[in-house]
Amino acid sequence: MSIVHESPRSASFSVLTKRGDIAAPAQVPTCDTCGTDEHLIYEEYVPARMSSPGSDAVSANASYSCSECGRFSAHAVPASWCPPNWSFYG
Ligand SMILES: [Zn+2]
Repeated sequence: MSIVHESPRSASFSVLTKRGDIAAPAQVPTCDTCGTDEHLIYEEYVPARMSSPGSDAVSANASYSCSECGRFSAHAVPASWCPPNWSFYG
């Protein structure tokens, strides 16, 4: 008997929009122009968090620019994602 463990890497992320103020779907940062994330420089990353217990969740956000073409972007990212080599301080 063998157990095959497949990671559910679905392309669809559900975004909670209880108050309708954040409509952008969470996406993994990628440069649309270059079609890759290998040139991205992450400027800011804010992990997903709860604003208050039992209240609406604030989705993770990242802002980044592409060192190849200079494109800048910032949007919600999946809670499971964080920048490569990202480290948290204190
Ligand atoms: Zn680019």
